[in-house]
Amino acid sequence: MIQADDIILQQKVAGDPSIIAKYMIYEDNLRMINDQNKTDTLINGKRVIPVVFHIIHVYGAENISDAQVLDGLDRLNIDYNKQNADTADTYPLFQSRAADCEIEFRLAKIDPYGNCTSGILRHYDPQTNFAYFQTMSDYAWPPSKYMNIFVVNFIYPEGMSLPDGAFIGGMSPFPPSNPLSQALTGGDTLMDGVLIRHDGIGAIGTATTLGGMPINALNRTFTHETGHYFNLYHPFQNLMLGLLPAASGCPDFFAPDGDEVDDTPPVDAATQNTSASCFVPGSRNTCDQDNPDEPDMIENYMDYQWGFCTNIFSNGQLDRINATLSGDRNMLWSYENLVATGVLDTSAVLCEPVADFFAEKEYICAGGSINFFDASYNGHPDTYVWYFSGGNPSISNDTNPTVQYNTPGIYEVSLMVFNTEGSDSVVRTDYINVMDTALSYDAPYTESFESITLASEFDLFNDVAATWELSSAAYYSGSKSVYINNFDGNINGSYD
Ligand SMILES: [Zn+2]
Repeated sequence: MIQADDIILQQKVAGDPSIIAKYMIYEDNLRMINDQNKTDTLINGKRVIPVVFHIIHVYGAENISDAQVLDGLDRLNIDYNKQNADTADTYPLFQSRAADCEIEFRLAKIDPYGNCTSGILRHYDPQTNFAYFQTMSDYAWPPSKYMNIFVVNFIYPEGMSLPDGAFIGGMSPFPPSNPLSQALTGGDTLMDGVLIRHDGIGAIGTATTLGGMPINALNRTFTHETGHYFNLYHPFQNLMLGLLPAASGCPDFFAPDGDEVDDTPPVDAATQNTSASCFVPGSRNTCDQDNPDEPDMIENYMDYQWGFCTNIFSNGQLDRINATLSGDRNMLWSYENLVATGVLDTSAVLCEPVADFFAEKEYICAGGSINFFDASYNGHPDTYVWYFSGGNPSISNDTNPTVQYNTPGIYEVSLMVFNTEGSDSVVRTDYINVMDTALSYDAPYTESFESITLASEFDLFNDVAATWELSSAAYYSGSKSVYINNFDGNINGSYD
């Protein structure tokens, strides 16, 4: 993982130094927030936060199961209520500073339109492979009512090139009133919530290896990113802001406050493991400006060790969380909103299903078979009715049927799903392409471009009008080749 949020913030601050002045005023005001605005809706002594997951996917592994989402939510609740077993690993000096945040996250049961929801939405969108804050804006439910979690395959920040093999586990742009959030989002208040990789949610399913690394004995990416959502900074925040001329996160006269929290000792830079083992708690002390001089709190959730090496939010961090719950996030846990989002009802509720499916492949030679997979969500269906024009069988009640196609042509597939609450259907016209084996070519197949009508002979899907172009500048044989100019059409969020 890399410190993408640091790098991006440094770029934003370098581009607009006035952010620093706004940040300082904001932090001064935040320190003065008291409980006057605070709603007092405690449920079993906890602040309950309605949560909605938006899973952005292309029917791949990133379309994680409901079970994995629930596992992620369970682990979040454990950490935010200091029920984590590894709190015993906290350095003794810091154990009395470990905070019980008394926050409970619950899946929303009522959507913004008043309809039944499972709180887990699924959207087919290739943006999942280059997701950034725009993805959040595209799918967010009102952030004053729901904590939005956006689950994606790969996070790719605008204007930033990631080194080979590097990846970003998650990002969250702080609450909207924070000038640093505005620097990141341009003031788009729908860019609020947590953007996170699918393998950063929970510890089962795809999360058994975060980014292909076998480090997920206990994954804390979700805990860390929700910390940012509640306005927590990294312990090395000075470094992030580029406040100091030297490349150091330790405090000095010009930047005394670090992460704006008193009980997390100052830290020079991110504590990052280079192996699968944790640093020994209390074994690092990268800044000596604190008095008394204390070791780094390397086990803090907001530092950068592997998740299983972190185990604490501090009481000072909880003060910031509380200030955020009294400010930007105060609507979320109001009684009115708990009713509106349905989270006071903890019984299992079945909603009407939303029909969805995908095929293992869409092109096939005559005589071949295709596996179809149910991807319905929101409410588990108890009955499936598939229609396969041109297929054998042409009707199926299986959950995931296999269908043979014997006659060349282009065919429609539809799925209807039912449960006791209702039904839904989805129709894909011109979906399955069955090709005549008599028209097949022998390998190796070569194509020349000396005389060709590009637009009509090659399919291309591109939303910024880049298309096939002929070139004489390069060729393997003959005198021409074709290319797509993506260099000039490389708008963030575009696809082809
Ligand atoms: Zn972070």
